[in-house]
Amino acid sequence: MKKFKVIDQEMIKQINKKNIIQLLYKKSQITKQEISKELHISIPTVISNVNELIEEGYLDEAGVAESTGGRKPIIIRFLPDARYSFGVCITPSKIRIVLINLKLEIIKEEEFKLSKKLESIDIMMNRIKQCIDELVDEFKIPKNKIIGVGFSLPGTVNEEKLLLVNAPNLKLYNVDFKKYEKLYNYKLFIENEANAAAYAETFLNPGKVIKNLVFVSITEGIGAGIIINDNLYKGNNKHAGEFGHMTIVKDGELCNCGKRGCFELYASEKALISKYNEEFNVESKNLKEFFRLTKTNGKAKEILYNYIDYLAEGIKNIILITDPEEIIIGGKIAYYEEYFKENLIMKIFEENSLYIKGECTVSFSKLKENASILGAALMTMQEIFFISKKII
Ligand SMILES: [Zn+2]
Repeated sequence: MKKFKVIDQEMIKQINKKNIIQLLYKKSQITKQEISKELHISIPTVISNVNELIEEGYLDEAGVAESTGGRKPIIIRFLPDARYSFGVCITPSKIRIVLINLKLEIIKEEEFKLSKKLESIDIMMNRIKQCIDELVDEFKIPKNKIIGVGFSLPGTVNEEKLLLVNAPNLKLYNVDFKKYEKLYNYKLFIENEANAAAYAETFLNPGKVIKNLVFVSITEGIGAGIIINDNLYKGNNKHAGEFGHMTIVKDGELCNCGKRGCFELYASEKALISKYNEEFNVESKNLKEFFRLTKTNGKAKEILYNYIDYLAEGIKNIILITDPEEIIIGGKIAYYEEYFKENLIMKIFEENSLYIKGECTVSFSKLKENASILGAALMTMQEIFFISKKII
């Protein structure tokens, strides 16, 4: 009996501490009295937990607030630079690395292109490690302030085993990231890129329970992260949400996955750019240039129209399968929502007898193309902010 009591109290303490840190994350600064009121916990409990969090470096005292009678209340402040983490996004064409603090602020970003002939994972991991070491030196960050490195990967990821099961677009299979933990000397975290992006969305509003949401990540491929009752849903074999490979054109183009006519071959950013390059006989990868053209050029307009058509078809299927309260579209394409949002939404909600516009919101990610890289970095912070891993 006694043992259970100890565990319970420790558990309650952890929950209180995490609630306090979440509240401070949201409000930046607040008095102990306000913490007590907001979280419905007693002042002595607030004081003891806040003292521990101050000792751990997450909070500090920042003067006193105006008194409403009695002693002036002490203001507690959240310290975003208490810890740092790295997010790494590996795609077939490039690797991006960001250094962020606890407030999700990007302190520094690095990027390097990969050669057309994909480099070996060992070479990539060594280059990333070198870049991380240089950033740690440049910003003179003590190593104990770095929580870890989170990787966003385009494929099926077993995050518990630190195993990249497969990433067809990178031609990588069964890559064990545990062996790189020794090389890096930091804790490593890995997640599928769309899942990481969906995770970042849940983090933007800690405390708010997201009932169900699908994050559709449009990059060189298409992936989706599914949130159910505030948890990331990964399925039985960790590949839930591979909507990029659902068949949208029977017997269509051949995909890297071995199937034909996959959604991402018609509705990814790469698909759009390829069509633009093909029709205009150019090699530009510049989305801005293309979207500008759609204002005046009929051929560009037609390419966009067809693209929206495919994208809408895929999203319609996602709505039918998952019935989410919200679909968030992310990726660089989110910068250009003004050029196609209206038409896309119109097509998605075209008359049908199964669902109507008011039942599901379709929006664009505020994090744009940073959602997955920030999500990957945020994976390292789970233990600071949350009790559970938030993955089912
Ligand atoms: Zn496919």
